[in-house]
Amino acid sequence: MRISYSRFATYRMCPQQYKLQYVDRVRVPTAVQLHFGSAVHEALNFMYAPRHLRMPEVEQVVEAFVQAWRGREREVSEEQRPAYFEQGVELLRRHWETHREREEGRSTAATEQFFNIPFDEGHLLTGRVDRVDVLPGNRLEIIDYKTSRRMPPERDMESNAQLAIYRMAADHLYPGREVTTTLVYLLHDFEMRLTQTEEFLEETRDEIREVLVGIEGEEYEPTPGTHCDWCAYREHCPLFRAPEVPEDVEVDVAALLMEYAEVETEEKEAAARRGELKTAIEEYLDRCQTERVEGGGYVAERRSYKRVARWDAERLRAALEPLGLWDRVTQVSSAAVRQVLSSGELSGGQKREIETAAEYRETKMLRVKPAGGGERGC
Ligand code: SF4
Repeated sequence: MRISYSRFATYRMCPQQYKLQYVDRVRVPTAVQLHFGSAVHEALNFMYAPRHLRMPEVEQVVEAFVQAWRGREREVSEEQRPAYFEQGVELLRRHWETHREREEGRSTAATEQFFNIPFDEGHLLTGRVDRVDVLPGNRLEIIDYKTSRRMPPERDMESNAQLAIYRMAADHLYPGREVTTTLVYLLHDFEMRLTQTEEFLEETRDEIREVLVGIEGEEYEPTPGTHCDWCAYREHCPLFRAPEVPEDVEVDVAALLMEYAEVETEEKEAAARRGELKTAIEEYLDRCQTERVEGGGYVAERRSYKRVARWDAERLRAALEPLGLWDRVTQVSSAAVRQVLSSGELSGGQKREIETAAEYRETKMLRVKPAGGGERGC
């Protein structure tokens, strides 16, 4: 079986997406980002082409992008075209400016280097490396361009399986050479050089083996997550595609969903407004130094409640121990003390004595209800 990084990463993210994409070969429109990425890659292939004796001029690189983009832009909506086009031109100008002076002794050996190398028994690891540079000392640098906006956290870059696979390819194609791998985030003008440890390469090999076992066993469970939000195969996925509705079900589910969403929005708005009104009424009560007000046929009353915030364990012990009741309170909590207080074994004075061990917290509750009549305010 042939496995590439894209297939490996797709299976690891969601085996069902792998099935839809590579087994069922469901056709979906190409995302605009892929068209953009391909056009930028073509321009960079031109810029670094080993056949050039010297670096092409910036306008030539831009022209290579223009040509590549023109071939693809008809698949991009008219509203999106200008932004992507301008971004591509700007990105390439910036990249050219920073890289036109190549470091002494560096040259490009290949762009879009295809590889198809043996992996374990009967498998092939395939892919395409964006660029292979030869550095002084006969070292090699494997370079992969990224046109995505999102840059993964550094820890994820260090465990980048794509570069590990490229490194395996380089070790096979150029045995005995010292190899470094670099990710170039073009939109951020940022380069990250990584050297994979043998331990990480072995971990990646194990992960590839696991993926191969899953594919060979036709294990294609959908694994939903945030990645579903941008999955191009979503409408074909068993988790998301519309169910087959039995003929006798005549429910207009779209209408139900719309009304549900409307009710939910109204409830949220009503809750927010209720909070504002409550605050305004309480401010009114505070300013009028009253706990009750009537108007419009309604009355608002604010009542105070005292709740035990905590018990002073020492004072409680001092009150209960002489009565032989301390052992009943295995844990100092309101529930335990209430049980003792309501046991019927204590006099009123003893209860009051015990209650002095409580620290109270006061809470106020506002209630608005239809009034008996009349209006009262400050
Ligand atoms: S929608 Fe989610 S679960 Fe379904 S195939 Fe796509 S990524 Fe997998």
